[in-house]
Amino acid sequence: MIARTGNPVRTSRRTPTQRHVGSVAGVLLLSIVTLAMTSAVGVAQSPETTPGTVQSPGAAESTNGEPTIGVQLLRDPKRVTFGSSTGRFRLEAPDRDKSKKIVPGKTATQIVPLATMSVEYRKKGDGRWIFAVAPELAKKSKSGPRGYQFYDGQQFRVRADGAPYTEVGGRRYEGWIEFTWIPDAEGTGSWRMVNRLPMERYLAGVLAGEMTSAEPAALQAQAIAARTFALYQMLTRSPGARIHVDASIRSQKYVGGKQDSAILDAVQSTRGEVLFHQGRLFKSQYHSTCGGHTAGGSATFGTPNIKTLTSVRCTYCRNERFTKKGWSCSIPEKEIRNVIKRVAAAPPYNIALGRISKIEPVDKQKGGHATYVKITHSGGHFELDATEFRNRLLFDGGFRDLRSTSFAITKQGDAFHFTGHGFGHGVGMCQRGAMRAAVEGLDAIQILKFYYRGADVVQLW
Ligand SMILES: [Zn+2]
Repeated sequence: MIARTGNPVRTSRRTPTQRHVGSVAGVLLLSIVTLAMTSAVGVAQSPETTPGTVQSPGAAESTNGEPTIGVQLLRDPKRVTFGSSTGRFRLEAPDRDKSKKIVPGKTATQIVPLATMSVEYRKKGDGRWIFAVAPELAKKSKSGPRGYQFYDGQQFRVRADGAPYTEVGGRRYEGWIEFTWIPDAEGTGSWRMVNRLPMERYLAGVLAGEMTSAEPAALQAQAIAARTFALYQMLTRSPGARIHVDASIRSQKYVGGKQDSAILDAVQSTRGEVLFHQGRLFKSQYHSTCGGHTAGGSATFGTPNIKTLTSVRCTYCRNERFTKKGWSCSIPEKEIRNVIKRVAAAPPYNIALGRISKIEPVDKQKGGHATYVKITHSGGHFELDATEFRNRLLFDGGFRDLRSTSFAITKQGDAFHFTGHGFGHGVGMCQRGAMRAAVEGLDAIQILKFYYRGADVVQLW
């Protein structure tokens, strides 16, 4: 383990000696991952646990301790079309030990045992071959024409054959595109389309989505924060989980693709480095613009009272649009009610939400981020976690203009008018601030230690 403690003059490349230390200590590092998981999530570690094994999802596929991560690209895909620069694909059903190379000229019915699924392989007008699957048809067919039981609870996967990327929906991804059937409590379920690839390659696709153009120090800080966040997500999923993160901002934005050299440098020069606080991995949240102060961790994030996620004053983002000018938006009362009534109806509230007359920020933190919102409606009032309130309006309602929880709220006719500062949930690293801090000469460690107080950078693989 290499613990880095904020050397003011940081070189972006590790020396060969350090690299050597890292690889020799590989087995040790793996047990640290286990320990980190244990302490982070309170899972009892069995004394029989073999040293050097990581009791975590994807560990079986890891190399040199680098885990393989499952990134959900799409929930309930109806029809997916793949492209490959070679025109060839590989289709596998790993749990059936079936593997098929799909080459031009083969028809769908030859792709056994997947003939029961709607598959299509054809030449497009531009001469390129595409391969399409429509998994939703498959789940309706318990047994196919050849008597195959279909894929309940199982997986199949596709990748371009002989090409570095598999093209899906206008993007290019490395690794496998996996289709996993996730059963639900009602006895049905849904297909999920998942990109499975090594962690470091995933991180390059995250940087491309989260921070494309910045000084090397900011990109390195972003890589370490994103790696920590992803590993935390992996280690807190149930063992054997095939999906660890979402490709959207619900987790961190992942766009795959071929990344530029600045991004690749930032990922490679921080390989395996994550944030620890007092020997524990923590959920290293980050966001676009804090607006002047970051927000503390909250129950919504599963990070209450974590010292590394306390509010800090950030002047680095002072010239950013959402700090300087702020933002405003109006959302009709009816729309808010439609979104929030589902939350209100569920435990612990169990409230039939009536017409909303007032929404007030409660327990404003130093920088203005509300901890709760008090919602007064025709049936009474209740308090809802402010981030939960925003997340529901953002993710369920699509109200992207509600930029943060650092807001004031007024009722204007049939709508609520929000005015606020900052962009994002406000917890952890302020990305625009980090970018500015790097311009002002802070290195990656200094940036991370500024936003995550008391954190250390540790190399795990
Ligand atoms: Zn900031």
